[in-house]
Amino acid sequence: MKRISIFGASGSIGQNTLDLIRRAPENFKVVALTGGKNLHRLVQNSLEFRPDCVVTAVEENYSVLKDYLTGSGVEVLAGTSGLNEAADRSTDLAVSAIVGAAGLEPGLRAMQSGAHLALANKESMVAAGSLMRKTAKDQNVQLLPVDSEHSAVFQALIGEKRDAVERVILTASGGAFRDWSLKQIEKATPEQAATHPNWDMGQRITIDSASLFNKSLEIIEAKELFCLKPGQIEVLIHPQSMLHALVGFKDGALMAHIGPPDMRHAIGFALNFPHRLHLPVERLDLSVIGSLDFKKPDLEKYPALRLAFEVLEIGGLSGALYNAAKEIALDAFIARKIGFLDMACIVEAVLKRNFSGYFTKIDEFSLENVLMMDQMGRKQATEEVLNLSR
Ligand code: NDP
Ligand code: MG
Repeated sequence: MKRISIFGASGSIGQNTLDLIRRAPENFKVVALTGGKNLHRLVQNSLEFRPDCVVTAVEENYSVLKDYLTGSGVEVLAGTSGLNEAADRSTDLAVSAIVGAAGLEPGLRAMQSGAHLALANKESMVAAGSLMRKTAKDQNVQLLPVDSEHSAVFQALIGEKRDAVERVILTASGGAFRDWSLKQIEKATPEQAATHPNWDMGQRITIDSASLFNKSLEIIEAKELFCLKPGQIEVLIHPQSMLHALVGFKDGALMAHIGPPDMRHAIGFALNFPHRLHLPVERLDLSVIGSLDFKKPDLEKYPALRLAFEVLEIGGLSGALYNAAKEIALDAFIARKIGFLDMACIVEAVLKRNFSGYFTKIDEFSLENVLMMDQMGRKQATEEVLNLSR
């Protein structure tokens, strides 16, 4: 039986994880569940899964959550200290499914307490890839990608030598606006951007899928997870979201991973690793699907991709700055302070403000430095939002 903690349990990845645990209760003991504002889900899930502790990241929610769970035997914690306390508890596997850079510290701490990490929180790898890898290595724990493309690459690499890899191709659905013109996209609303043609995900990643900022984060995530060089990563638009990634080897072979657009596949793979157990996902019939389509992305329509490749070239802590600026730009778009295309302008402006090489001079392995860069990115992006919305 695996002891498991889920950070971001009340979100889309968290709920899919719990769905899989619900179907195989004999395989898991839930140690900790964490969420933020969604107390209804946290209470329901706590009563069903009886974790040792439940955490709301929102300090003010502590007493309400505590009242609901009085007599349940579930310990209630709150705030950053509560998250850290949960992450410090001994467990076999931690699922990192908080959205944004807020997921970094709990993930690191969970690994430091000896847990393997099922990593959905791509922002951790973007902001602090070296630190994440070093922590996993020092603690002798596995970083198991949950992002579907990265799970696909991970699976294609099993049994292969890393130096035989020539390139990695990540696919992107193209998101909500794949058939829209630039002129139409300019006026897109948060509601329009938050509908995905294939995947059912949280609001923020869905909007990031429409701008391809999600893919841009995934490019950096792939570089960090698989130690790739910038020229080894490619992106293809693939509207059906069934072929998640390909790995190209030195002998010209391409290994593809094909599966239904259901996150329970990648989550289940990480939960059960190193075994492959039955998963309740659709079985694809390729004779019914008939054909799969691919095309090169339009970099003018999707500036986020160009920016991600710039970040790969700069290296150092530029990912932390990039991710922070992206989070602020996304907040501003959701709050209708800026337009859809302004998000990329803000992130680009923040990157330009720091082209001095500052990024590469700082030690990448310190959490303190990553957080400092994150704060700087947030501050500068907030200034850029103000400039634009004036
Ligand atoms: P959701 O928005 O659905 O859920 C996010 C979770 O994080 C919720 O439990 C939320 O709590 C919690 N949370 C939000 N802000 C904070 C904070 N500041 N501190 C602590 N907890 C917080 O996101 P998703 O499940 O869609 O995504 C989670 C992560 O997984 C992201 O990094 C995303 O990029 C990645 N991912 C998601 C995929 C998907 O299919 N959804 C696919 C691949 C990767 P509450 O809601 O209670 O406030
Ligand atoms: Mg993905």
